[in-house]
Amino acid sequence: MLDSMRIRLTLWHAGVLALVLLVFSAGVYALLARNLQRRTDAGIDAALAAMKHLLAYERAEGDTELEAARNTVAELRYPQTALAVYTADGQLLAETRFGSTQAALPTLPAEVSETARYWTLPLPQDNTENGVRIAAQRVVPATNAAPNLIVVAHSLEQSREEMEALGQVFLLIIPLAVLLAGVSGWFLARKSLAPVATIAARAEQIGAENLSERLPVANPRDELGRMAVTFNSLLTRLERAFAQQRQFMADASHELRTPLYVIRTATEVTLEESAASHDAAPETHDCQQALAIVNEQSRRLTRIVEDMFTLARADAGQRTLEYSDFYFDELLHSTARAAAVLAARKGVTVETALTEETPFHGDEGLLRQMLLNLLDNAVKHTPTGGVVRVQLAQQTSAYEITVADTGSGIPPEAQPHIFERFYRVDKARARSETANGASGAGLGLAIARWVAEAHAGTLTLRQSNANGSVFVVTLPSPSATAENA
Ligand code: ADP
Repeated sequence: MLDSMRIRLTLWHAGVLALVLLVFSAGVYALLARNLQRRTDAGIDAALAAMKHLLAYERAEGDTELEAARNTVAELRYPQTALAVYTADGQLLAETRFGSTQAALPTLPAEVSETARYWTLPLPQDNTENGVRIAAQRVVPATNAAPNLIVVAHSLEQSREEMEALGQVFLLIIPLAVLLAGVSGWFLARKSLAPVATIAARAEQIGAENLSERLPVANPRDELGRMAVTFNSLLTRLERAFAQQRQFMADASHELRTPLYVIRTATEVTLEESAASHDAAPETHDCQQALAIVNEQSRRLTRIVEDMFTLARADAGQRTLEYSDFYFDELLHSTARAAAVLAARKGVTVETALTEETPFHGDEGLLRQMLLNLLDNAVKHTPTGGVVRVQLAQQTSAYEITVADTGSGIPPEAQPHIFERFYRVDKARARSETANGASGAGLGLAIARWVAEAHAGTLTLRQSNANGSVFVVTLPSPSATAENA
């Protein structure tokens, strides 16, 4: 799941927001708690000052300690606050309560000083979480009078409620905000990553055959746009390198043709002449044998170079099709006849089953080469007494040419590779057979497939087993081509 950049971005987005909100809420919460305590303490301070003042006033009026204490607590009223006056040794003189809040002396009387001291205590008789803020102070209400202890207790219930309300707001808002950030982050990530998906899909389609295609660039100034532009310039360089390589292949195979032709012709002429001269000298015989080998190899080399030349020109886009109108059945018939001559030498029969009149529009020379390659392979791999069957069937919108043999078949592991260039099933056997010219270089099927595809058709191996192989070519019939045009 975390392999998706979209999910990772969304999680980061939501996670960072959650962290920020948590820190922010904790800060606000702590600030509110401190302010509430300050407010409470300020109220308590005011109450203590008022009590001190009133006690002194009552004593100055001539009240006894008890009367002054009672009058003081009776006259002063503060919200959520309890007041109490004690003697210096901790005897309660007078008090007022607020609900269950009582201004009990929070410590030993001796520990109460003239500077007010504060405590935050839980309410012992209250099983809610309400607490109480208490302050105690020693005061001397009149000269020569015994000191009194004054105590103010402020209920913290209201503060707690305020804190709780804020906590609930945070509890509601934080998950909601994080959820909202997650959802919006998800859509944002999808929107901003959409060009990546488009680029990846397009890049996947680009191969050696269509290197001229380029990636879409929505905005060349943003990061993705710059990436696509960089990738496109890489494609341009690759395309140039490929073109140079193809051109080199085409030029090299072209240049090789002439010297090969000269070697072949020279050996043929010399062989013919020496055969006519009836010279039986042993050295002449050795020379003839050597020349025969050179001639055979140059023939084979010529075929390979011709095949390479065809493919190189096709790759470089220089081998344009030379279209003409002809009858496919006639072409198939003549190629089958040519193959039959070779097959007869091996004791292999070539049978043809053709439909009537199959007009076609295409490159006759290339299609002949395609058929010859298929027939050549079929004859080559069929043992004496075997049969090669060629069939031409007219489908609704296509011609289907089947070349079936009763040969040894192609091993299953080799089948996916036979259309690759220079792939031969049994390389050792192929090399050993080169001496008598029976083997190619593994380019025959590659060329045949290119020819079929150049005519908007296909070439496939339909089946191959110990009983033989079946190759099928499908080519769009002229009616289908006309409809598409
Ligand atoms: P080549 O020009 O050397 O014959 P191809 O490209 O025509 O090469 O064929 C590739 C390989 O496929 C060959 O090595 C051959 O062994 C195998 N092959 C092709 N056609 C047949 C067939 N009809 N029966 C058995 N093997 C075949």
